[in-house]
Order: sequence, then C-alpha cells, then structure tokens
Amino acid sequence: MGFTTLANGQAFDDKFRQLNDDKFRTPNVYRTASGAPGHEYWQQEVDYDIRVTLNDDNQSVSARSTITYTNNSPDTLRYLWVQLDQNRFKKDSIGPQSRATSADSLERVSFSRMESMLTQEEFPAGYTITDVSDTRGEPMDYTINDTMMRIDLDEALASGDSVTFNIGWQNNIIEADVLGGRGGYEYFEDDGNYLYEMAQWFPRMAAYYDVEGWQNKQFIGNGEFALEFGDYTVAITVPADHIVASTGELQNADEVLTDVQLERLEQAKSADKPVKIVTEEEALENEKEGTDETKTWVFKAEQVRDFAWASSRKFIWDAQRYQKGETDVMAMSFYPEEGNPLWERYSTASIIHTIDVYNDYSFDYPYPVAISVNGPVGGMEYPMITFNGPRPYLDEDSGKKYYSKRTKYGLITVIIHEIGHIYFPMIVNSDERQWTWMDEGINTYLQFLAEQEWEPDYPSWRGDARNIVTYMASDNQMPIMTNSESILQFGNNAYGKPATALNILRETIVGRELFDFAFREYANRWKFKRPTPEDLFRTLEDASGVDLDWFFRGWFYTTDHVDISLDQVNLLTVSTQDPEVEAAWRKQVDEQDPETITAIRNQDVMYKIHQQEQLQDFYNEHDEYTVTNADRNKYKQLLDGLNDEQKEMLNNGSNFYVLDFSNLGGLVMPILLDLHYEDGSKEHVRIPAEIWRRSPEQVSKLLIRDKTIKEIVLDPYWETADVDTTNNYWPARPVPSRIELFKRGDRDNSMMEDYDEELKTDEPKTDDEN
Ligand SMILES: [Zn+2]
Repeated sequence: MGFTTLANGQAFDDKFRQLNDDKFRTPNVYRTASGAPGHEYWQQEVDYDIRVTLNDDNQSVSARSTITYTNNSPDTLRYLWVQLDQNRFKKDSIGPQSRATSADSLERVSFSRMESMLTQEEFPAGYTITDVSDTRGEPMDYTINDTMMRIDLDEALASGDSVTFNIGWQNNIIEADVLGGRGGYEYFEDDGNYLYEMAQWFPRMAAYYDVEGWQNKQFIGNGEFALEFGDYTVAITVPADHIVASTGELQNADEVLTDVQLERLEQAKSADKPVKIVTEEEALENEKEGTDETKTWVFKAEQVRDFAWASSRKFIWDAQRYQKGETDVMAMSFYPEEGNPLWERYSTASIIHTIDVYNDYSFDYPYPVAISVNGPVGGMEYPMITFNGPRPYLDEDSGKKYYSKRTKYGLITVIIHEIGHIYFPMIVNSDERQWTWMDEGINTYLQFLAEQEWEPDYPSWRGDARNIVTYMASDNQMPIMTNSESILQFGNNAYGKPATALNILRETIVGRELFDFAFREYANRWKFKRPTPEDLFRTLEDASGVDLDWFFRGWFYTTDHVDISLDQVNLLTVSTQDPEVEAAWRKQVDEQDPETITAIRNQDVMYKIHQQEQLQDFYNEHDEYTVTNADRNKYKQLLDGLNDEQKEMLNNGSNFYVLDFSNLGGLVMPILLDLHYEDGSKEHVRIPAEIWRRSPEQVSKLLIRDKTIKEIVLDPYWETADVDTTNNYWPARPVPSRIELFKRGDRDNSMMEDYDEELKTDEPKTDDEN
C-alpha cells in the first residue's frame, strides 16, 4: 500500500505514490530507470551437444551431454548449479514431501488419482548421473541437492571465460497421465505402442543473473524454469520406424526420411494448406509392427533456452510454410490417428494464426520451425515445439469419433497459448521460477487478442474484464507479485488477473495505439534477454507517456478489487435572483414535498379561522412566496451593478449535476459513464482515475449540461471489472432473477424392496437383450 502520514498524524493511502518510493529497486547499469537493458547488461551463455538414446522396450533414456558454459557476468564463479528436474518425481523430493493432503480430500478419490499416489511411492524416478567429467575425461566433483546439482570447478571461472564439461545420465520416463509431468510417455493399449513427449529431460544449467545470482530455488512443481540461451546440437537415437518432432532444424533429413517424405516436405514450402508428410494410412500401417533397428535424428537449434522433442511410430505429420515480415517458418503438427479429425483441420492452422497475430503485437517469430504435438500432456511449451492434449473421443458402439465444442475450442485455445509461449518466455526470457505471471499472464493477454481475431465472439476464458470479477471479489487471494510456489488460486492469480489487467490498460487506461506501441517496445527490448517485473512496468510507462504506477500498485501489489458506487446525483441550477422567478421556483419545489399526514387526515376538519373569519389578517392572505416591493428594488439594485456578461450568467439555464461516488473496493479506476437524456440521446463520459488522487474513498464530479439527464449508468460496458454493478445505476434498477420450482420426491429408499431385487449374473446376454 502507498501509505503516507498527514500533518494530523493520520495515515493516508496514497494510491498514486510512485513505485520508486517503496517497491522498485534502484535502477543501475544493468537495468535502467526507463525499463530497458542497461549499458552493461549481461547474461550467461550455455551451449549443449547431446547424444540421447530412447529405449522403447523399457521407456527410458540414456544420454551424454557436453556443455560449454560462458561466464559473461562480471563475477568469478567457483561452482555452477544445474537443474535436475526429473528428480522432482522421486518420492523423497521436496515437491512430493511438501505436498499437504487433508483427510477430507481423500474421502472421494478417482481411480487415476489413487494410481498416481501409489505409483509415486514405488516408481524409480529421477536421474542416475553416470558421469561428470572435464574435457580430458577427468571426473569433476559434484553434489546433488534434490532437484539441483552443484559442480565444483577446479579452477574458478573468471569473467569472460568458458568451461566445457560432460554430464552422462540415465532415467526412466514417467507415464505422463499417472505422475502428471510436463513430459512423459503415453501407452496405447489397442495397438501396443508408445508416444513420448520429452521435456526437462536433460540436466540444464540454472540461470545466474544480476538480480537473483544463481536461481537455485528447488523445483517444487509450479515455479517452472529459469534458463540461459545457447546453441544446441542434439542427436536422438530412436527405433527406426519412429517419427521425431523436435526443437531445432533437422540436419540429416536424407538419412532419416524416405524420398516421398522429402518430396512432400518440399511441397509444403509453397503450399497454401498443410501437406501430409506422413498420412493417416501410413501412420496406421507403421504402428502395426515394431523394429529392432534404430535411426539417429540430428537437430540443431540456435539461441534457444531449452530443448524438447517427441517420438512415436504412431505419428501423422503435416506441414505448411508461413512467411510474414522476418518470419519464415515451417509450421508442423504431429499427432496419432486418435487426434483426427480435429488435428488435421485445426492444429497447423492454429500455429500459423498465432504467429500471424503475435508478430503484430510483439516481434517477428525468429525460428525456422513451430510445432504442435498431440500426446499425453495437456499443454506445454518449449522453444519451437509445444505439446497439446485435446482429442476427439471414440464412440465404441458406432465406431465414430465425436468431439464437443469444449474440445474443439480447447484445442485451438491451447495451441494459441503454447505457441504463444515460444515468444513469452522462450524468447522474452523471464524467470518462471520466481514469477509465473510474467510469462503466463502476458501470454494469456496476447492469447486473448489472437482468440478474438479467430472468429466473432470466440469463447475466450480469460482476458475480458467481466470474467475476472468473481476472483477479484474472493477472499483467499494474494497479490500477483507473489512467488510462483506460494500462489493461491494459481490460474486466476497468474494467468487471468494479469492478462485482464493488461487488457484493461490497453482498452480503458492507455488506449490501443499507445499501449500497443509500449507493449511492442517491451517485447523488443527484452527479446533474447531476461526482464524482471520492474522492467515491464517501467517500459510500459516509459513508452506510453502515461503514469501507471497507481495501476501497477493496485492491480499487482494488492488484492483490492474494483467497486465504484454511484451514491447520489445532485442537480443545481443558477438562481436568477429575480424575486418573481425565484418565488415561483421555490413554490414549485416546495409543492413537490408530500403533505403531512396530519394535513391529509384533517381534510374534513372545520378550521377555526373558517368558522370565525375575523381571525384572518394579512398573513393569511399572503403566503411565504409573496414578492414585496423591497424585493423588487433590491433586485434592480443588483442588476444596476452588473455588466452584461454577468447578467447573462444569472440567466444561464444549464443543469449543474454533481455526482457523488464512493470507492468500496479499494482499487482506483477511471469513472466511465453513460448519460441518458430525457430527449432520448446518450453521451459517454470517461473521467480519468486521477480524480481519486486526493481522496481515494469518495469523490464528487461536476457535469454541466443543457439537457436533462434521465438515467446514468456507471461502467456501461463492464470494462473495469467492477464486482458489484447494482450500485452502478441512477436511478437504481431491480436485480432480475428466476425462481426455480421443483417437485419433492414422495418415496424413501427401501431396504425391503432392494432385498427382493433379482441378483445379476455374468451370463452372456441373449441377442434381443443387446
Ligand atoms: Zn502457459
């Protein structure tokens, strides 16, 4: 909160206090006050050369990686930290160990959750490190600390120097559905085949940077990754009948693809719709028998912060090239037959749509491929490759495949989201282990823009202000500025609220043109670099020229919500001071007051002054509205002292409306009004949030209008996430609702009847029972 102290000693909640005062770190040579990288900005580089073999017989990998670590920091490093993410699935790892489970939550448990709980206890998960050695093959000292590993250097690594070393390992691949990972395998019972989605599959160098030092917080499960950019060469050995999808460009297509496949890939370069490199018929044929032979697929990727791949003999593969600006990309999808007919229609088209829209709002997609793979993982992102889950279902009786509307839009939505992540955080490389919202919130914001350009009224989950209202009004909330592992209501906190906040900035606070410029500036300043929240906040202000500290303070650092109430509407008009006019006006106003109950009930009373007329005098004949000559003379005297302009003001017939507002939710926001006039016309008024700066709880606003207002609506397009709209109308409106009638059941369950029920046997049904 932005409390300062008033002269009377009371605390004043200064909603507009600048964040530099109490929240931001001092800018420096690495990160500037404008939000750009500083003139001495640095980041480490890590290059990997990996050979990995997939064992399809027992679902495991063995691999060896040669890592070159370049220390661009000004510091000398005596040791290096490595992320061992697969260790998270060990039962004694911090993630499972620190998972809290209440007895209540176990009273109703799905079979799949029970399988997961039991498997967690016995599955031999995690890395077996077989070798850590230097370039001469000499072993190096290392210490494993749960999901992290420290490698001690014989010789300290000076600023500007590089060190090369090897890590060898093996690990059992988890079954993704059972242990809930971001990668793993899926087993297809009907045909006996496996599909592998390999992610966080190799020991990766932890990030080391100016704000955090080593980001070596353990991997508990939510706070994802903090990684360095580098170049990769990865040789993947798989069964010879597998198709491999991977980060990077395939280096040896001639060796691993057939002539027909190569030809089709060539066609895909100039096609206007996806071309099948492997058709459904070919994939179905391929999955019928296995092989003992292997093939090695070699991929190279430049300037990526991670590397993932997928492999299966079940893959159908389609591809279409897309060019826009600097972007020249092969969009590709890999999916088993189970994904159709949904996948062949929507997957590659969704990839291209995402790149089309994200390029407009950030920067041109820089990589040569963009991939969507269907497998066991619901939705996950890596450089150039994404894993996406939704599939149709098979109706066993008819043998037909169907999909719900939810599945259709779920697929398009998740592909937009995961491909979007290739921009944020795979290129704008924020620290996910610290801040989930910096990639999820920003990406969900752009995802919303892309969804809304797919078709009219696209069923977007998140982005529109009205969709965040329930969350904003809820109790168990934390500020967005909370570490990834500690967040309550994860999805709303880290995806929904920041996405909505950015959308409100664009539509309501800053305006589309200024905001889009500022956001693009952020994306371009920080692509292939590592921004912090401050860098985002500072850049959006720096490039838009709009003071947004109040907005970031309220929306990102507090759990306040928006609830502005239109309490009262006062109508003032200018007194003419003409006694005749004013007396008539007063009389008219007074006549609108109701009669007293005494006067109403005394209608039949025989009044004394009517019985005895001599009791009446001057004051019975002249009421309080009587104009005297003294009044008239005083008015003449007044007019004599005024110039023409002043006289005109006395006859100004305008309505001076003073609107009283109170801020019940805490968040200050612009006051947006529709004024409906008596003549049927309407006016939209937008009052900036700064109206609250000296009085954040209550403000009044003057509107001078010639017309007469009949109705006022506050936040008429629901763009501020106001949690209570019942106080947004003048005059107030009734709140509509329905009464649902139901019939009470008239009979109890009866053991007596259940006892008489016939016992079911396993005997086969006869034909006419089917
Ligand atoms: Zn995401």
